[in-house]
Amino acid sequence: MSDKPAITADGYCTNTKPIPSTTRQINGHALGGKLVKMHGRRYAHCPCGRRPSLTDRGNLHRHKPPKE
Ligand SMILES: [Zn+2]
Repeated sequence: MSDKPAITADGYCTNTKPIPSTTRQINGHALGGKLVKMHGRRYAHCPCGRRPSLTDRGNLHRHKPPKE
């Protein structure tokens, strides 16, 4: 992808908006693809290529983009 978000001076991705439809809720053993309706962390893809967890507001947590 050529459309990478900006990076802060200390190396963090500035994007906080998850890519729609990439949000996933994961709860421990649920990595096998089962739907789990108990509380778990939510993750979503970022345009930078990472998949950070989400805050309560649905924004991406601060994360560093992958190194090339
Ligand atoms: Zn990012």
